[in-house]
Amino acid sequence: MGEEDFLSLYEYHLNPGLARVFRFMGLEAVEGRAEGALVWDEDGNAYIDCGSGYAVMNLGHRHPRVVAALERQLQKMPLSTRLLLSRPQVELAELLAAVAPGRLRYSFFSNSGAEAVEAALKLARLATGRLKVVAARGAFHGKTLGALSVTWNPAYRNPFKDLFLHVEHVPYGEAEALERAVDEETAAVILEPIQGEAGVVVPPDDYLPRARRVTQERGALLILDEVQTGLGRTGRMFACQHWGVVPDILCLAKALGGGILPVGATVGTREVFRVFEDQPLIHTSTLGGNPLACAVAAEAIRVVREEDLPGEAERKGEKALGVFRELAVKHPQVVREVRGRGLLIGIEARDSGVGGALLEAILRRRVIVVPGLNDFRVLRFAPPLNIPDGLLEEALGRVAEAVEEVAPLADALAGASAE
Ligand code: PLP
Repeated sequence: MGEEDFLSLYEYHLNPGLARVFRFMGLEAVEGRAEGALVWDEDGNAYIDCGSGYAVMNLGHRHPRVVAALERQLQKMPLSTRLLLSRPQVELAELLAAVAPGRLRYSFFSNSGAEAVEAALKLARLATGRLKVVAARGAFHGKTLGALSVTWNPAYRNPFKDLFLHVEHVPYGEAEALERAVDEETAAVILEPIQGEAGVVVPPDDYLPRARRVTQERGALLILDEVQTGLGRTGRMFACQHWGVVPDILCLAKALGGGILPVGATVGTREVFRVFEDQPLIHTSTLGGNPLACAVAAEAIRVVREEDLPGEAERKGEKALGVFRELAVKHPQVVREVRGRGLLIGIEARDSGVGGALLEAILRRRVIVVPGLNDFRVLRFAPPLNIPDGLLEEALGRVAEAVEEVAPLADALAGASAE
């Protein structure tokens, strides 16, 4: 079947609007197989994956140890009776407690980032008996109703506003604004330690420590959403460790599934999980924490530790940031700013038009990067943390070529808008 036909099927059976965007972007290749940091389309063309499916493939595609863990568990028992005790579930919870900072010791397992956030919000409300949640502008926490209440983008929120939790959004990175918003009615503050979908926004160094202090002072909980930043992505196992801040609740998903399966986790302290003492079934998920997912996630965590993927992310991230910052100096009409930590890097184009042209030029060179869901000017460069150095060099070279290609167009646009 021709590619055009395939996109028409997409348009007919999945999402007509998104299919039109794909067509407009010239994105008609069909993904076929993947290994490590490489993806091949059905025609056999190879792409360097520097988007990792939105920061999911920290270990690359089909890491052999994770595949082996999956196969072992598959041969034993993939899904649970939900009545007998589950060894993979306990092993994963134990491992999470060992790698998580501070006294985070309990886990609730689900199947996605939004579900991890839903559980966090419900637990915070029950544990404090309070209603209000403080979130940040630009935040992305998912699109189920509870998670969407704390997500920022009005385009996603407005049609559902009347169904939301009691939430106040404050500017991200401004500690004073946060301190003013947290009061005796606040159940929790929810933050991404580095905002991902907003376009990789790194807060000032005092921000998270002050968020921690004010929540402690006013009896509110601090929820850190590390769905995107967790598991080594930013150069630490968890991004909050850059600032030595320990939340009451940590949300994980994406890379926790080892690049193989969907897994979500809401990790909390004893004080938070006390909620389950009287009401053990207050929050449940039939498929969350199934043996297959837990075996895969546990192996993913072991690989992140044993292969020092946070260290890899830090070293390679410095290199990539250096290259992109040079490009920003040389071509400010194309790249306005470059930001990031480890291998979570945002390349902010001068405007969304230039961003679109740059994305197209990069993709044509068969490098996959992904735009920010809350800011289309920003392209995210987030390859697998174990991407071989040679492949990283190659990808950086192709991005540099794409910037050179777009520069004359961006110069012309900038000239036209100055006139
Ligand atoms: N939280 C953060 C920080 C995210 O980046 C995302 C997804 O991009 C989510 C939550 C939602 O995760 P999911 O798409 O798995 O529901």
